[in-house]
Amino acid sequence: MPELPEVETVRRSLVPVVKGQSIVRCLILYDRVLPLNEKTVFCADLVGRVICDLRRRGKYLVFVLDNAQYLVIHLRMTGQLLVYGNDAPAPHNHTSVILSLDSGQQLHFHDQRRFGTFYLVSEEDMDSIEGLRTLGPEPLSDFFTIDCLQKAVQSRSPIKSILLNQKRIAGLGNIYADEVLFQAGIAPTVLGSHVKRAALERLHRSVQIVLREAVELGGSTIRDYVDGHHTRGAFQDRLQVYGQTGKPCPRCGTRIERLKIGGRSSHFCPHCQKEDGQ
Ligand SMILES: [Zn+2]
Repeated sequence: MPELPEVETVRRSLVPVVKGQSIVRCLILYDRVLPLNEKTVFCADLVGRVICDLRRRGKYLVFVLDNAQYLVIHLRMTGQLLVYGNDAPAPHNHTSVILSLDSGQQLHFHDQRRFGTFYLVSEEDMDSIEGLRTLGPEPLSDFFTIDCLQKAVQSRSPIKSILLNQKRIAGLGNIYADEVLFQAGIAPTVLGSHVKRAALERLHRSVQIVLREAVELGGSTIRDYVDGHHTRGAFQDRLQVYGQTGKPCPRCGTRIERLKIGGRSSHFCPHCQKEDGQ
């Protein structure tokens, strides 16, 4: 599933393609990609609009349109936004949406699992996208201070589950939550309210270091993630614990273990990651 670094990489790859372009055609091939909007209204409203900017909030892509409306996209599990020129292929089974730009380029939304969603909303209607309305702080923003993280982790849930909860911190998924906890030396099972101040400071630093490096490397391609230009990420080669079950810990050589926490596989080093919250 694309997490913050992958969505940010997609955003960066698309900005030069879409900024200043108007949308000349909109084709919806899978109706359930639009949970809020009616298909014909969605397309009629979108066609003719100019894309002024492309932003990101958590795992959401937010296209800012010239009429103060926003095209919001969530890639979910397998969504890919791919740029094509004259070589655009005919839509296939997994093509949910095609947007044509006045440059002649097309954006194809390919989505194998088909959980991806598009929304067209005005500023005041943004709140009708529940996941966006309840999103926690953006971890690479100035707003994400140690006190802000302290507030976010105040819960009797395991710290791993807290990091995955988009209402507490935006953008982390299973890969980066595991990597961040390894980097911070905190076991994924430690309850949020048991994380001590020094550990919290390490966690705060780790969140930013891991996410920044992953963005720098274009995200992680574990299965099918690619950016707008079909380019794979490179951070999968830097993963320390995620998907490394049974391999030696890169720091101490202990075998990496896997444990289900809140229904999600967690990968960790039982030696380097402390269970006492210190
Ligand atoms: Zn270790």
